[in-house]
Amino acid sequence: MPIGICPMCREEKKLCMSHLLSKKIYPLCRNDEFEPVAVNSQVMRPTVNQTKAYLLCEICEDNLSKNGERITVPLLSRWDGPFPLFDRLVKQKPILATEAMSIYAGADIPEIDVPKLIHFAMGIFWKASVHSFGRGSDRPRIDLGEDSEALRLFLRGEAPLPDHIALAIAVESGPIRFPAMIDPFPGDNPDFRNFFFYVPGMQMQIYIGDKVRESPSAKYCINVNPRAPILLVPLGKDMRGFMAKHSADAYKTEKLLKTTAEIEARGLSVKLGD
Ligand SMILES: [Zn+2]
Repeated sequence: MPIGICPMCREEKKLCMSHLLSKKIYPLCRNDEFEPVAVNSQVMRPTVNQTKAYLLCEICEDNLSKNGERITVPLLSRWDGPFPLFDRLVKQKPILATEAMSIYAGADIPEIDVPKLIHFAMGIFWKASVHSFGRGSDRPRIDLGEDSEALRLFLRGEAPLPDHIALAIAVESGPIRFPAMIDPFPGDNPDFRNFFFYVPGMQMQIYIGDKVRESPSAKYCINVNPRAPILLVPLGKDMRGFMAKHSADAYKTEKLLKTTAEIEARGLSVKLGD
């Protein structure tokens, strides 16, 4: 293990191999036959490569693990398997249901640990804000400006999450859950700085801005509304659309085209590019 300055505790320590998204998510996106699909603007291919870098010391890795990942990752959707987060939500009555979405009160569901969901999300956004994770440049994946430091303090339990950061959690409502991962990426909200990431069955989005708590959508944000809303929406189409848009010009390897055709033939509908 190399020695370096851990960006979370700022001490010189042995650095672990840290995953941007948790290492334990990768097995959820594959089965015996299909590898996870990696997407960027140049290439789209099944891959066993993982997004990781020597970044955090063991104590800080453990902080992210025990306060977020270890509780949240087992709730995600498994390929052709159970989806515990969905199951725990729909056991309850939604606080609001429209044709487009249902909203559940996370605060009323003892089986869902809301602070750990928030810690998990912020841990991933923060890591993306301090490191490139091998993108071929030194620039971090996302630019959070001074809020990167605010998130660091929050993750260490030294400060509350700032009021101008709102987090929305959306869970797949449909029977087909997109078995993929999308690293933190800038969103297109017109009013606020906005970033999202996707892990199997769940999308997490942050909105950053001084008036974020006054916006109409703030009531759907888990750290703003005291009932800790979690949204159940058809996510898969949007996530597939995003991947298609950002990989339209990408070279698709033969292995990917073959995998996609095989998945399509089985009606799993993870077509990349619709
Ligand atoms: Zn550390």
